[in-house]
Formats: sequence, structure tokens, C-alpha cells
Amino acid sequence: MTPSINPDRLWRSIMDLAAIGPTPEGGSCRLALSPEDTAARGQFADWCRPLGLTLQRDAIGNMFLRRAGTDPAAGAVAFGSHLDTVPTGGRFDGVFGVLAGLEVMRALQDAGMRTRAPLELVNWTNEEGSRFAPAMMGSRVFAGGLALEAALAITDDNGVSVAHALRDSGQAGLAKPGPRDWSCWLEAHIEQGPVMEGTNTDIGIVAGTVHARYFQLVVTGEPSHVGPTSMDRRHDSLAATAALILAVERIALAAEPGGRASATWIENFPNARGNVANVTRLHCDVRHEQAERAIEMEAELREALTGIAQRRGVRIDVDPYATFGPIAFDPTLGALLRRKAEARQLSTRDMIAAAGHDSVLIAPLCPSAMLFVPSVGGITHNPNEYSTREQIARGAQVLLDAVLELAGT
Ligand SMILES: [Zn+2]
Repeated sequence: MTPSINPDRLWRSIMDLAAIGPTPEGGSCRLALSPEDTAARGQFADWCRPLGLTLQRDAIGNMFLRRAGTDPAAGAVAFGSHLDTVPTGGRFDGVFGVLAGLEVMRALQDAGMRTRAPLELVNWTNEEGSRFAPAMMGSRVFAGGLALEAALAITDDNGVSVAHALRDSGQAGLAKPGPRDWSCWLEAHIEQGPVMEGTNTDIGIVAGTVHARYFQLVVTGEPSHVGPTSMDRRHDSLAATAALILAVERIALAAEPGGRASATWIENFPNARGNVANVTRLHCDVRHEQAERAIEMEAELREALTGIAQRRGVRIDVDPYATFGPIAFDPTLGALLRRKAEARQLSTRDMIAAAGHDSVLIAPLCPSAMLFVPSVGGITHNPNEYSTREQIARGAQVLLDAVLELAGT
């Protein structure tokens, strides 16, 4: 008999976790390695303890919870996602994937079932990148795309380093971040878009992701007085940044439907009333389903900023600090997920992920795949992010069914 996930237990766990770092609007705020993220990690570890899972942390704080198999020589079947959120986070982004994995472990425990291969459930550190850039930091370090020492030195807006935050939160582990004995990797996630709802799809089979390129732009002008300095003598970094932000939006509008671009973060100096700003830092990104179009979007951005710099007499330095994708996930694993969904009479659809996910970093290391469940209204990174109990349960059941086939019984 195939074990079944318990929809009520899974739902309750998601709601219990959402109560850690609650926002007034009903969402969650658990920035990476904050006290809230640390509390959520503690709750997760507490839930894992009675299941007999062994917890290992690596030096970037990634959590690995292992369930032994009957064949010690078999590579582990790994799955999971992330528990950190953006400041305006909802209850499901990342959390669903980790707690669906927890529910897989609980269902196997209920059924008294041992798998042949070991299972490993993962909570990746700092997927969102809201507090410490770049995003997908834990999986990036794990995959060798960012050196551990470099990641540890990255600071948040208050000058607190990743190393310091890891130490303070007690999340730094002893294991060296890097590939483990995994035969494959699966991640369940909410869609974060409206496509599945619009097409009545139960399970999205993620074929791959967009190509995204992230930049920090530093605009340097001249400090001056807002009164006596005539408009033609100003080199206003904030006004130049405003022009940049609109240029990013124009590039995005021209790149739809496959492309997106966003300016998301700004820091302004001296940020003082009475002063024309002289240094402004802006983070932005461009992304497209076709990698070459994302590269063209970057060229358009660089052309726009050269024009703005000339017209306004400011300097604009570009730091292309991160990229992700394009990734094609493993088609055999994708076919397995589809087969498992169809065996449960669920509708499926091939999807391209427009958001970054830890799976993008893991895919080059071992066969990897993702499944999506619908997001009501496509709303995400928002307290109103929502998927129904049934949608969540279907995704977790397909994950369990796939894990069982991959790990063997
Ligand atoms: Zn996520």
C-alpha cells in the first residue's frame, strides 16, 4: 500500500510556521538568519526530532535532515526548499517545499516504511537574498558558485556580516558546504504566477528556468545645496537613478511576455534634506525565457545608462554581481513527476520558472526537478499569497510518490 500524506497535518504545520515572524497583514517576515528565521529553523528541527532524522548543518547554515535507508551504498534522494522569506512574505513560498518534505518523512514514519536509499530533507540558507545579496546564497555556496569565505564576508544594510549572523544565530555547522551523496534532487514550490490557476492545472512540471542577470549600479554625482545650485550645475545622483529606474521598466515592457526587469533596492547619500544627492546605489535585474534575450536586455540597460551618465554628468559603475539559469531540469525526473501526478488523476502542465530557486544551483550537480502547485491569483511575496489545502496536499502527495519510486522500498 502506498503511504499517504496527511493534508490536515501538513496544513497545520504551514500555519504554525507562518506564526513565526507574523506581519500585521497576515504574512510572514523571516529574513535570513534573523531571530525569526532562527526560530523557524528551531521549530523545523523540533518537528524532525521524533522522526529519528539526523541533522547536519554546513558552514553556510544549510540544514540537512537524513533518514537512513536499508542500503547504505545507495545515494540519497534529496528534496526541500527554504524557510526564509522576503520582508513582505506570504505563508507558502519556500515553506511549502520544506514542510511537504517533512510530511513525506512523517507519512513514511506513519507507514512504518523504510526506503532502500536514504532520504535527505534540506532547508537552504538565504534563498531570498533580501537581507544578504545574492539570492540562493546557501545553495550557491554548496554548488561552488560562490566561495564560502566571500559569502561569509557579505554584509546586510546594517553592516552585519553573514559570518556574524551565522554565529549569533547558532546556525553555522561544521560540514564543509559541497556536494553530498545525492542520486537526485526534487523541490516542490508554489508557482508564484497565475498560469496554473488560469489553465486549471494541478501540478506544474517545471522544465527549466529563465536566465536572470543581477546588477548593482552606483551613480556618483556631486554634492551641492538645493537652493543656490542652479539646475544646470547639478550632478544629481538620485535624479539620474530615477531615470535609470524608468529605463529598466521600459526595457521590461519591451521584453514581455518572455522578459522581465525590475529595480528593487536603493540607497542614497547623503540622503539629507537640503542636499542634492551625490551617491545613489541601485539594484536591478533583467531576465528572459531565452538566454540571449536576457543578454540583449543587459546591453539595452548598459546603453541606457551610458546615455543617462552623459546627459547628467554623473558616473555610473556597473557591478554584475550574480546570474542564474538558464537551466533545463532533468527530463526523466520531470516525466516521473508527471506520471505520478497522472496516476492520482491530476492535471499537469510544463512550466518555465520565472523566479530563481535553489534547484537552479543544484541542477548541475545531480539530476534535478521541480514541481509547482497553483498560487491563488498568482499573488506572491505578499501576505495574501495563498494555495488551498487541497492544492498543497496534491503537491506533497506527488512528491511522496516520486520519492518512493526513486528511493525504492
Ligand atoms: Zn521560494
